[in-house]
Amino acid sequence: MFNLFNQLEPTAWLILSLILGISVGSFLNVVIYRIPIMMENQWAEELNLAQNQTPQVQEPFNLLRPRSHCRACQKKLALLDLIPLVSFALNRGRCGYCQTQMSWQYPLIEALTGIVFVTLATLFPPSMLTLAWMGFCATLIALAVIDFNTFLLPDQLTLPLLWAGLLFHLLFGELPLEQAVLGAASGYLILWFVFQLFKLLTQKEGMGYGDFKLLAAIGAWLGINNVLSVLFIAAFIGLAFGLTHQYLKKATVHAPFPFGPSLVIAAFVHVFGFNSFSLLLTP
Ligand SMILES: [Zn+2]
Repeated sequence: MFNLFNQLEPTAWLILSLILGISVGSFLNVVIYRIPIMMENQWAEELNLAQNQTPQVQEPFNLLRPRSHCRACQKKLALLDLIPLVSFALNRGRCGYCQTQMSWQYPLIEALTGIVFVTLATLFPPSMLTLAWMGFCATLIALAVIDFNTFLLPDQLTLPLLWAGLLFHLLFGELPLEQAVLGAASGYLILWFVFQLFKLLTQKEGMGYGDFKLLAAIGAWLGINNVLSVLFIAAFIGLAFGLTHQYLKKATVHAPFPFGPSLVIAAFVHVFGFNSFSLLLTP
């Protein structure tokens, strides 16, 4: 495996990273669309159980089933319709069967993930470490878009991301394990305190518990030394985002907006350079 990485030509490494990024982006589209629906189904099921109603028999709905289909005409997509970016371009952004306009979110996520992976590939050599950072970034993209669309940060993504970060540093020793563990704990606790303080002062809930878990996961990957700077950059982005939102929508001061995307952008800023340790520079 490691020999394989050593034999990779720099150009091949970039091209493979691009293809990998676009393909992963295509899977992220499935995750982004389906996980919130899976959560709603689960809540409905739990409510049914709590009210002692017989559970309704439903078609399985998860990341694999049912197979990808057009949401307008329900037609199952053929292999040719599933090629990331290419299918969208060939069909000019419409369903090949019923001509319904498809969301621009699909090609945007695919292209964005491709760009992020290539950027990582230009900064870091071919290695398992770089692949792990790609996985971290891909999960963050899914979380940011889900939070933006639905105000949810699913435990199904934040918690495995946290554990993955701790295991990553345990296995590869990129950071001393203490820094990763303390990063996770402090990420959660700092936002929890901010949340309680805000609630005490304004009687309002300014964030959700998903935000704490997301910063805990980011802390596990970036270490305790980066938690505060991630939070400050995120708060700055969030403020700019909130003011723009307010200006554009003429919304009231209390119009809610998600904090997850700001945390994710701040984490990206750190992965791509601004961090207290030099990522991946160890061969
Ligand atoms: Zn269709």
